[in-house]
Amino acid sequence: MPLMIPDKKGRLSWREALKFINKCPVCGSVYATDRARLFAEEEQANLIHISCANCQSNFIAMVLVLGHGLSTIGMVSDLNYDDAKKMHALAPIAIDEMIEGHKIIQEEKFLLKIT
Ligand SMILES: [Zn+2]
Repeated sequence: MPLMIPDKKGRLSWREALKFINKCPVCGSVYATDRARLFAEEEQANLIHISCANCQSNFIAMVLVLGHGLSTIGMVSDLNYDDAKKMHALAPIAIDEMIEGHKIIQEEKFLLKIT
């Protein structure tokens, strides 16, 4: 297990999580960790975005700083850094909007209406 180094206040940085997120899940190339960028920061959770230099796939990870440890949850995404930052700033989709969207998709000739 890689050594985790706390900052001067004894906290772990989201950059410590990059020791664990070190390979692209799509092509297996080793990430250049300087390509990782923070796009949202909250009290204990940080959202980071990494683009693979080899296959250009994008990866988004939520890094939780919990006391003296880190936890990460990640997913492959089609969002680039700017899109991820914009989408994060939007209000969450409400249940009523989901239901309305489902109804619209079910309408007759839906595909003709959107083209
Ligand atoms: Zn890759």
